[in-house]
Order: sequence, then C-alpha cells, then structure tokens
Amino acid sequence: MHMIIDCHGPYTTSPKALDEWRDRQLAGLVDGSRKLAASEPQISDDQLRETIQLGQLRIQRERGSDLTLFSPRAVGMAHHVGNQRVSEDWARVCNNLIFRITELFPRNFVGVCQLPQSPGVNPSNCLPELERCVKELGFVGCNLNPDPSGGYWKEPPLTDPWWYPLFEKMVELDVPAMIHVSGSCNPCFHATGAHYINGDTTAFMQLIQGDLFKDFPTLKLIIPHGGGAAPYHWGRYRGLAQMMKKPLLAQHLLRNTYFDTCVYHQRGIDLLTDVVPTDNILFASEMLGAVQGIDPQTGHNYDDTRRYIDELAISDEHKRKIFETNARKVYARLDKRLNAVGLIHG
Ligand SMILES: [Zn+2]
Repeated sequence: MHMIIDCHGPYTTSPKALDEWRDRQLAGLVDGSRKLAASEPQISDDQLRETIQLGQLRIQRERGSDLTLFSPRAVGMAHHVGNQRVSEDWARVCNNLIFRITELFPRNFVGVCQLPQSPGVNPSNCLPELERCVKELGFVGCNLNPDPSGGYWKEPPLTDPWWYPLFEKMVELDVPAMIHVSGSCNPCFHATGAHYINGDTTAFMQLIQGDLFKDFPTLKLIIPHGGGAAPYHWGRYRGLAQMMKKPLLAQHLLRNTYFDTCVYHQRGIDLLTDVVPTDNILFASEMLGAVQGIDPQTGHNYDDTRRYIDELAISDEHKRKIFETNARKVYARLDKRLNAVGLIHG
C-alpha cells in the first residue's frame, strides 16, 4: 500500500473575494483613493472548505490520489503586473490562503508558495516570503517564474548569478522550485498551450547551456508539464549538450532536475517514462487546471493522469517511485509534514 502524491496542484477554485481583492489592489495603483483598506480579503473557513470539498478534494477522492502539493494559481501570479510592492502583497495574500487550506485539510494538502517576483527586480526580494512560508507556514517548495515579464523573456537565464540569492536560500531551506511561468501578455503565446510549454522547454535548455548545478550541487528543480518538449526531443538536447562539451545529461542535469507527469495522453506518458529515468519523474495532474474536459477517445478527463501511469508497462517499484517516493525525496521537508499528520510513521 503506498501513497499517491500529486506535486502540481493549483488553487484554481479560489473564492471570488480573492479576485476582488486583487482588482482593488490594482485599481489602487492608478487611483490612490481606491487603495485597499483591508490587508487581507475577507474569506471565511467555510468558504474555503466549500471550494476545496467541491473541487480538488472531490477529485482527489474520485481519482484515488492522497495528497496534493498545493500552490496559488500559476496564471494568477501575474508577476508582470504592478510593481515589487504589489507582487509582495499579492504573494503574501495568496500564500496565506494556501496555508489556511493546509490547516483545514492537513492530510490532503501541503503548501507550495508563490514568490513575489517582479520584472527587473532581483529575486532576492523573494527571500523573506520564501522563508516565512517554509519556516512559519510549513510549505515544502516554491514556484519560480523564469519569465516575470509574462512572455517577453527580459530576465537573464536561470543559470545566471542574477538568480543565485534565491537558489542559495532554497538550498539553505532544503526546498525545491517548480519552474513555472505565469500568464502571457504576449498575444503570440497562448498561456497554457504555448507559454507554459515554451517556458518548460526554455528552462531545460538554459540548464543545458549553463553549469548551475556545479555551483549548487544539492539544488532541485522540477520542470512541469512533462518537461515541455524536452523528452520528445531528447536526442536534440543530448546532441546540443555534446556540441557544447557538457557532460552527459545524466551527470549534467539529472541529479538535480525532475519532470512531472502533466502530460494528457497515454502515448505522451509512455514516451516520457521511456526516455527519462524513472528516478526523475514525479506524479502530477495539475487538476483543476489547464485542460478541463473529457477526452472522447478514452471517455476520461484529460488531466486524470493517474490512469496513464497505471497503464504503464513498468514494475510496481518504478510506479511507486513516480507516485510517492521521488516526491518525498525531492521535497525533502515533506516527510516531516507527513509524519506530523500520521500519513507515514517513523
Ligand atoms: Zn502547470
């Protein structure tokens, strides 16, 4: 008997009051008389409970997963909007809601935080919020946006020392980051169809070009959505790494880089698990997220990714790595949480 841990759960069902708070926050940017009076949106525990019971918790039960690593909505981060102060307030409010849900449902949800990134602002501004979320709220990871400009890629690549203060703090706290873009304000890139997958692919290529893990041998990064185009084009990436005189990908990246299983068809998951070592794959569904609806070819929801893993012709031991043990290894602080709520013993 083992656990099924979904490492990619966005709070897409958050109450309207959160959006209203955000609208007022942004209105206050252009009209000082409309500045927020309350520093937090007024949302009751019952309201929070309802959004979860009708949404993520219901689906967890229907599909038979146990625990979701839960974060604010990726599209909602919208780092390109406003300024540093706006992002800091917004991240705090969103993370506090996630914390409350992890308190209301401690056996079903563990927190992953939004960072208060802002275009052109060094990510060292994120350290206090990351530290607060990990040390005070019990979060086990963060979402790191490689493109706070929202589709225009104005920041240096992830391997640039620009990002190092954040990586140093992550290593110190022993938390990984999921590399996840937010919305796209570039009309060329559909957010979930193009910008997300581009973001994943771009992050992977940046990691190949650089030598980030020489400087941070214990840093752990998760590339979502199955790693974007990387697994499908594995030969291209191996070849490019070779041309750049980089070590083999196994040494260069795979001690530190992981992919999730947010790939919404069987043959995609077959390919992912065929190409990428099982040790580097973490179960995830992104429910209720990017793609909602039922696949007429299978009669099941596209994002019901557990079915694809169940169908794989790999051993139970390998499935267990994907469903549970890899997540417990990558999110090193998770075991302490699982122990505290009695999900594991020892
Ligand atoms: Zn995602």
